[in-house]
Amino acid sequence: MVRSVLLWVSENEWCSRTLPRYGFVRRAVRRFMPGERLDDALGAARSLEDGHRIPALVTCLGENVANEAEVGAVADHYVAAASGIAATGLDVELSVKPTHLGLDLGLNVAEANIRRIAEAADSHGNWVWLDMEYSRYVDPTLELYRAIHADHPRFGICLQSYLRRTPDDLEALLPSGPAIRLVKGAYAEPPSLAFPEKRDVDDAFFDLTTRMLSREARRAGLRAGLATHDPRLIRRIDAWAGANGVGRGDYEYQMLYGIAEEEQRRIAGEGGKIRVLISYGDGWFPWYVRRLAERPANVGFVIRSLLPR
Ligand SMILES: Cc1cc2nc3c(=O)[nH]c(=O)nc-3n(C[C@H](O)[C@H](O)[C@H](O)COP(=O)(O)OP(=O)(O)OC[C@H]3O[C@@H](n4cnc5c(N)ncnc54)[C@H](O)[C@@H]3O)c2cc1C
Repeated sequence: MVRSVLLWVSENEWCSRTLPRYGFVRRAVRRFMPGERLDDALGAARSLEDGHRIPALVTCLGENVANEAEVGAVADHYVAAASGIAATGLDVELSVKPTHLGLDLGLNVAEANIRRIAEAADSHGNWVWLDMEYSRYVDPTLELYRAIHADHPRFGICLQSYLRRTPDDLEALLPSGPAIRLVKGAYAEPPSLAFPEKRDVDDAFFDLTTRMLSREARRAGLRAGLATHDPRLIRRIDAWAGANGVGRGDYEYQMLYGIAEEEQRRIAGEGGKIRVLISYGDGWFPWYVRRLAERPANVGFVIRSLLPR
């Protein structure tokens, strides 16, 4: 119930326009985001790399931008970011949202913009990951991925375990040696398309992981990013990997900045691979409310930030 209300708020235009103006909302988002500028994200990335040997991913928040000049400016920003990151010498990859780069304006617009970013990152030997949004975008996002990955192998895509179609999408991608970030899925979807029960989403995540780490997938060159903070699932995956001859270096966990930090450090400390996604930018509202929806206890943090200190 709380999750449904929060997901409704994340999609509501009035809320997106109005609520970010309130100081308490801006203060509360700091827990998940070090600041609105790329430099803020890179500063946090430096602390993670220097302090804990944890590499990062950065993403500029924004979605459903339907103005050609604006999406072009977002692409320009990422192209410059690719050089800026290279200049820092940090291990920081990029993650982008198709609707932030013009998917609502047409596949060709998004492809031209994302291609520019992939080329810029490639020229520095760096990676770009394509986020997955609502289910209506899955087919065009897969199409974008296939077209760009054919020319830029350092290009990854996100798949969502809550979608019933994902095992078929994974099988179709597998022979091309893809880079896949597996997530549970963060959007409101109907039960006809997505498992409504959390246990089914978790089981699907585990089953998809075992396929991504299968000998066949590794032989094809699949890069596996497992984006979850779920400690039970992480233990289950590590145990399966250990029992099936899959090394800790053969897969990478990916987590969000500010969430499950102890677990992040534990994985890094034990020699496992972990990468942290750091967000920045001023289009953070829908993304932030989806983070609250994932764990309604987070709403408590917002309420506490309202109280006098
Ligand atoms: C690197 C990365 C990239 C992502 N990209 C996408 C994408 O492209 N498309 C998409 O649909 N989704 C994306 N997501 C979000 C994802 O779909 C999940 O909604 C999110 O990761 C929460 O699921 P979970 O696997 O951590 O498990 P859950 O089962 O939701 O949570 C397990 C445990 O993790 C902790 N936890 C999880 N979320 C939070 C939170 N918000 N605040 C505090 N604690 C929390 C809690 O301890 C919780 O008990 C991404 C997530 C990550 C980490």
